[in-house]
Amino acid sequence: MGKETGFLDIERKDPGYRAKDERIKDYRAVENMPDEDDIYDQAARCMDCGIPFCHDYGCPLVNIIPEFNDRVYHGDWQGALDILLATSSFPEFTGRVCPAPCEEACVDGINGEPVTIRQIELAIIEKAFEKGLMKPEPPPFYHAQKVAVIGSGPAGLAAALMINRAGYKVTVYDEADKPGGLLRYGIPDFKMEKNVVERRIRLMEQEGIAFEQNVLVGTDISTRYLTMHFDAICLTCGARKPRDLDIPGRNLIGIFFAMDFLTQQNKRISKEMISPSTEISAAGKNVVVIGGGDTGSDCIGTSLRQGAKNVTQLEILPKPPAQRADQTPWPMWPNKLRESHAHKEGGSRRWSVSTKAFLGENGVLKKIRCVELEWSQKDGRMVPQEIKGSEFDIETDMVLLAMGFTGPGNESLVNSFGLETDARGNIKVDESMMTNIQGVFAGGDMARGQSLVVTAIYSGKQAAKGLINYLS
Ligand SMILES: Cc1cc2nc3c(=O)[nH]c(=O)nc-3n(C[C@H](O)[C@H](O)[C@H](O)COP(=O)(O)OP(=O)(O)OC[C@H]3O[C@@H](n4cnc5c(N)ncnc54)[C@H](O)[C@@H]3O)c2cc1C
Ligand code: SF4
Repeated sequence: MGKETGFLDIERKDPGYRAKDERIKDYRAVENMPDEDDIYDQAARCMDCGIPFCHDYGCPLVNIIPEFNDRVYHGDWQGALDILLATSSFPEFTGRVCPAPCEEACVDGINGEPVTIRQIELAIIEKAFEKGLMKPEPPPFYHAQKVAVIGSGPAGLAAALMINRAGYKVTVYDEADKPGGLLRYGIPDFKMEKNVVERRIRLMEQEGIAFEQNVLVGTDISTRYLTMHFDAICLTCGARKPRDLDIPGRNLIGIFFAMDFLTQQNKRISKEMISPSTEISAAGKNVVVIGGGDTGSDCIGTSLRQGAKNVTQLEILPKPPAQRADQTPWPMWPNKLRESHAHKEGGSRRWSVSTKAFLGENGVLKKIRCVELEWSQKDGRMVPQEIKGSEFDIETDMVLLAMGFTGPGNESLVNSFGLETDARGNIKVDESMMTNIQGVFAGGDMARGQSLVVTAIYSGKQAAKGLINYLS
C-alpha cells in the first residue's frame, strides 16, 4: 500500500478536458493527459483493500489494480508496467476509452470519490512508451502450425498477440484498408487519436504478426482456402449489423446509420478515400440522433465539429436518476445519468420519446414525428405507453440511427463455415470458445454481441487460450 492515509488526505483529481470552445474546432483528443505529480498522489489514494472489488469484480480483464497503484506511488514504472501487462493487452486503448467499471466498484467510491484507476493505467503505459520500455516480444521459436485471425478489432488484436507469443505464426485478415476495427473506424479521433492504434500495430508487426488488409473472408478468400492453409482459425469479426427503424418514411433522403457517418469522418481524418457520391455531412443541418447511448454521443460530437446547425438526441428509455439507482447498488455498474464530453459541447437530449414516422417533401426528409412515452412496472418489467395527445414534430434534414447492433451479419462467412448461432444471433461457442466447427474459434463482439473494448479484449484472449490449448 502506498500511503496509509492517502485516501483521507488527498482528493480525487481528474486531468479534465480541453476547453470546450477550443476542442470543438478540431478532432484531436479532448481529454488531457494525466500530470505526473498528480498521478503519484492519485495512486496514493488506493487503500489496498483486503478484497479489491476493482480487480476481481469491476475490471473484466481482472487487472491487478492495487499492486500497480502501489508501484506507481513508489515511482517504480517498470514494476507497474509488468503488473499491468500481465493481464491487460492494450492499456493504451482501455486507458483512453474504457468506461472504467473498476472505478464504479472501487471501495473509495462508497462514500467518496473512487481512485482514478483508468488515468493511472494510461500513465503507466504512456510512460512505458516514452521511456522505450515497450519492446517487441517475439516468441523464442515458432511451432509448425499456423493460425489465421479474421478481424483486427481489439478482440482480434488481443488474440493475435497471445497466439503469436505462444509460438504460432499468425496472419490477421481484415476487409478494411487499415487494421484496428472499431478502434480505428468507429471510435472518433476526439476520443482516441489513431496514431495510438498505429503505434501498437507497428509493435505487433515487429513481433512477427502479419496483417493482410482489404481481404473480405468468405468473398475474397474462401473459408476452404483458410482451412487448407491454417491449422486453426480465430474469428473476431465484430457485431456490426445495425438495428434499423422500420417506420413510414424510412426511405427518405437524409436518414443514415450512425456507423456510416462516423466511419467516414474517421477516414476523412486519416486521409482515406471516400467516394463523393456517398459523402455524409452534418454541416448546416438540423440533426436528430436516434439512440441515447455512446454511439449517439459520438454522433453529437462529430456533428457539432462538422458544423451542424443544431443536434437533438432522442432516447426511448426514461431519463436515469442523477445518482446511482437503488436497483444498482455499489459495486454494480450503476444505472445513472451519464453526460459525455460531447453532451457538454452542445445539442439537446430528450428521453421517453418514441419515433412514429419520418416526413418529407419530394423524397427528402423534412421532419420526424414523435410521441412521448410513460413507463410503468408490469410483472416486474418496465413497459412503455404512448401519452395521448403528446405527439410532436422536430424539423430535421438529417437523422442518424444509433440504436445498437443486432448481431454479426457476415452471412457469407457464417454460411460458408456453417457456423451455428445462439438465441441472440451471436456465433455459438463452447466453454473453450470453439464454434461448432472443429478448430474454428470465435471471440469479441461476434461471440458476445456489441460490448466494450475491454470485454472484446478479454473475449479475444479467451478465444486465443482455447485455440492454443487445441493446438498443443
Ligand atoms: C461508434 C462506437 C463507439 C464506441 N466507443 C466505445 C468506447 O468509447 N469505449 C468502449 O469500451 N467501447 C466502445 N465501443 C464498442 C467497441 O468499439 C467494440 O465493442 C469493440 O471494438 C469490439 O471489438 P471486436 O474486435 O469484437 O470487433 P470490431 O472492433 O468490430 O472489429 C471487427 C473487425 O473484423 C473485420 N471483419 C468483419 N468481417 C470480416 C470478414 N468477413 N473478413 C475480414 N474482416 C472482417 C472488420 O473490418 C473489423 O475490422 C464503441 C462502438 C462503436 C460502434
Ligand atoms: S481496463 Fe477498464 S475496467 Fe480494467 S482497470 Fe482499466 S479502466 Fe478499469
